[in-house]
Amino acid sequence: MPDHTSFHHALIVDHDQCIRCTHCVKVCPTEAIRIENGLVSIREDRCVDCGECVRACPQKAIDIDHDDLALIEHYKYRVVLFPAVFLGQFPERITEDQIYAALLKIGFTHAYEVEQPIGVLKNLIAQKVKQNRTGNPIISSFCPSVVRLIQIRYPSLCESLAPVKAPHDLVAHYVLEQLSAEGIQADEVGFFYITPCVAKITAVKTPVIEKKSIITGVISPRPIYNKIMAIADNIEPIDSMAMRRELTKEGIQWSLTNGETWWQRSKTMSVDGIHNTINFLERLENDQVNDVDFVELRACDRGCAAGVLLSQNRFLTVERLKRRARLYPNADNKLMVDGKPPFHHLESKLIANPVEPRQLFRFGNDLQKSMERMQRARNILCHLPGIDCAACGAPTCEALAEDMANGLAKMTDCVFISQLWQKEGKIAPLKAFDRMEKKWGIKRFDPDCHKKGAKNESN
Ligand code: SF4
Ligand code: SF4
Repeated sequence: MPDHTSFHHALIVDHDQCIRCTHCVKVCPTEAIRIENGLVSIREDRCVDCGECVRACPQKAIDIDHDDLALIEHYKYRVVLFPAVFLGQFPERITEDQIYAALLKIGFTHAYEVEQPIGVLKNLIAQKVKQNRTGNPIISSFCPSVVRLIQIRYPSLCESLAPVKAPHDLVAHYVLEQLSAEGIQADEVGFFYITPCVAKITAVKTPVIEKKSIITGVISPRPIYNKIMAIADNIEPIDSMAMRRELTKEGIQWSLTNGETWWQRSKTMSVDGIHNTINFLERLENDQVNDVDFVELRACDRGCAAGVLLSQNRFLTVERLKRRARLYPNADNKLMVDGKPPFHHLESKLIANPVEPRQLFRFGNDLQKSMERMQRARNILCHLPGIDCAACGAPTCEALAEDMANGLAKMTDCVFISQLWQKEGKIAPLKAFDRMEKKWGIKRFDPDCHKKGAKNESN
């Protein structure tokens, strides 16, 4: 039986809010969601934290398990680390200095944008591309959803993932170094990362390319955004330049689509959106991609500007960041320290262990049994109608056949087969209805005019 418990994830389904509409079941790119025993269940070994289900849910029934802002009170020094896309949420009348001042006002003692050490990251990526002998292009490891996707579905591509950590880690090490120089003990400092998406919560809580993250807590951007908006207009701005001194054009745009490629001299490609990413990885795995040295993949359309936890329109965020980037220098023009880019002495903190495959065996790990189950699934599929309606609780007929072969579903879960079997006298109508109620919940078929059917528009 496939192991469904191997990954930690940050998604929580509010079963009282959920109306079992199957929107999440149908949009999940890895077919990780099912309706079982009247509830939505997420198969953790399949989920890559792309957040598509959160976007699609009309009930806002899928919530995110992030840390409470109150956690910061346990630390004497409270460092907030945030991505440039968070700053891109604010209307342009609110200045950088006001936003930094508001962050300090709401309880943090230090504030840093995480894309500051991008000069070092650029150099490391250029080095990896130059040294690459895998026969495939180097793949960016910046998007944690993409890393998970490759681990479980394209394990042979793991060796092509750039073994570099996320920039927030390096900034945290840098700040710790600065604070230590002032005589501050490491255990007095808490690092709090404002995340744009679900995947980065999981990446901090259960890191893939490092043993333990230096980050203390991961917090959702919306409550902080609301707090800042409530005070920003009337706040006395501070001179925040000391906290964003190393920021560059590349840094500000790094997490957007093309952010890791526009400055490179080698042959690069940028792909965004989870479905485009999957299509591209299929081609890459089948040796249909030639003549590319580096590939940037982002699970979200327009990169982190579309992070599911952000509230503003992604196109607007991209425009704001592009306008802001014009005011900053290129990383290569940044003041060198002993002929090296800033943060260079911390480069080793960015180098990660190679990413290990965590291949998903859809029919279990036992080869013999898995072949038998695969054949069983093929035979079952011949009898299913091929309508992919999800009324069985699985996203497609093929996924239902797979579940049946793995002993996780029954033939009568298919409403069409159930009808057919009733007509042929193979199952009593009352029993068929009992099974349907077991799958969808006792009151699922009662009249209710408040059911929402439409999918939400994403940001
Ligand atoms: S986060 Fe993505 S992969 Fe995970 S259950 Fe939701 S849609 Fe599926
Ligand atoms: S999309 Fe529908 S089935 Fe999925 S969690 Fe939301 S309400 Fe429930």
